Amino acid sequence: MTTDITKCVHCHRCSDNCAFLQKYSIDIGDGEKLKELAFHCFLCGTCTRVCPEGIDGRGVIMDYRRELVSSGSENLSAGGYRMLLWEKKNYRYRNYRHAGSGAVLFPGCNFPSMYPGTTALLERILREQAGIGTVHDCCGKPIAELGLEDEERRITEGISSRLRSAGVSQVIVLCPNCYYYLRDRLDIPVVSIYDKLHELGLGAKISGGDKVFMPCPDRESGTILSQIEEYFTEGPYRRISGAQCCGLGGSAGVREPELAGSIASELRSENGLRVYCASCAGRLKRNGMPGVRHILTEILGTDEDPDTGKSVINRVLTKFR
Ligand code: SF4
Ligand code: SF4
Repeated sequence: MTTDITKCVHCHRCSDNCAFLQKYSIDIGDGEKLKELAFHCFLCGTCTRVCPEGIDGRGVIMDYRRELVSSGSENLSAGGYRMLLWEKKNYRYRNYRHAGSGAVLFPGCNFPSMYPGTTALLERILREQAGIGTVHDCCGKPIAELGLEDEERRITEGISSRLRSAGVSQVIVLCPNCYYYLRDRLDIPVVSIYDKLHELGLGAKISGGDKVFMPCPDRESGTILSQIEEYFTEGPYRRISGAQCCGLGGSAGVREPELAGSIASELRSENGLRVYCASCAGRLKRNGMPGVRHILTEILGTDEDPDTGKSVINRVLTKFR
């Protein structure tokens, strides 16, 4: 894997698979134009997966974002990211009061926003059945994806230090973004909720046979989906990973609101779609897809609908639990 775009042979495989690149008639190898549009990319990683020359398109664009921010060419505060920065640079709704020691549940910021009832139930089950505490924090990925390298480092160090002070030895995450992002950065082992529930003998088996929309970070290895498969009673189900991201990735919706909406709308015909990322669930529901189900709510028996109307309030409330 390389970020050397001089290796690009302009086969157009990346643009054939990307609505953003198609819109501007560019390939990942078109460096100058791509750099100008770095904040229009959804960072879904499809270009990286399809490139026959091993060019990491997502990595190329992340490098451009970092360069634009550090040189001062990109003023994020004036660029529509003000609320995101206000909330997540020093996460406003952080709460480590119920951390405990040993293993700890780290629900992230989006799952409690969309699924407050399931979050509360899961916290109670893990506390009562396994003595596991909970911390509410943001993993830092949304800030890192804006190209803020110093902030990225500071946030990771802060999480690591707070977890260590509490005596945490294992972090259990619900969100695929938190899983891949923290697994590569924390010096404390990170496991998914599906592996942990399975280890503890908790959660119910659920029917297979439906379509599962894979979130971007799990598309390369499918690690989380293979853990979820332990809970399916039957198959086959169909993985929907060809569709680009749900439209929320890379905060690109700030620059490309219509494209973000149209990417999500392409999935509307997929009735009964299952997801395992709360951000995807909220995004798809907001774009007119009824009946989108999060697999964790099925395993825990809540079958909760994504609460798109009160998502911010639900997130704020995690600070006061
Ligand atoms: S897929 Fe790779 S080689 Fe082909 S145009 Fe895109 S970056 Fe260039
Ligand atoms: S990361 Fe996704 S949105 Fe960005 S250029 Fe690659 S395929 Fe397109």
